[in-house]
Amino acid sequence: MRNYDKDEGERKKYDRKYREKNRDKINKRDREYYQKNKGKIIKQRKICYQKNKKKIKERDREYYQKNKNNIEYKRKKKEYSEKYREKNGDRLRKRENEYRIKNQGKVNERARERYKNNLEVRRKQKKRDKKRRESIGYKKEVKEYGKKYRKEHPEVARRKERKRRAIKEKIIETFSDKEWLQKLKNTFGVCPRCNKYVGIAHLTLDHIHPVSKAKEGQVYTIDDVQPLCHSCNSRKGNRVE
Ligand SMILES: [Zn+2]
Repeated sequence: MRNYDKDEGERKKYDRKYREKNRDKINKRDREYYQKNKGKIIKQRKICYQKNKKKIKERDREYYQKNKNNIEYKRKKKEYSEKYREKNGDRLRKRENEYRIKNQGKVNERARERYKNNLEVRRKQKKRDKKRRESIGYKKEVKEYGKKYRKEHPEVARRKERKRRAIKEKIIETFSDKEWLQKLKNTFGVCPRCNKYVGIAHLTLDHIHPVSKAKEGQVYTIDDVQPLCHSCNSRKGNRVE
């Protein structure tokens, strides 16, 4: 078990030198040892962490404060978290979804705050994007790509178009594309209003409380929208049902 106080500086210096010299050899040996004793090591680490929790946390905090503006540190941190997410994405997403469901109020409040804080930034971005969009070569490329993409993914294309409109109409949608696609899949392509089978690609998103009647900054969660077939959606019009 490590002692976090005693002669730490000296030991570290020596360790580092030795490691630099024998890096490949040590790494290989460490990996082999780890694979062989994985269970034991993880258990030991947990015990060690519990015992030195306060000190470790304090040390980490200090380290972070010292290095938070260091570019190399930032890059490494980003790289690590990207790798971690790639490896543990499913588990993290599940946890995030659970958190979102449990803390709906808080999440919505934060989204509203972000929306307010970003109004000015978004305005500038819009101007910049418009300029870029107007250059001819770019325009053509995007147009062709968009056409192809929309043809291959009609449900995603519609969702994007609707989100664009939502921003324009100043409502806030807090659900992800994935959540919406899951909701679509749950219908098996049957419109829940008229019970006709139309296929998932022909179901459109309906805001249960119509967007045209929404207040500025009104939040729509995944529970505030439903899939409807074209004819049900247009028949529903401005009513709340
Ligand atoms: Zn219908």
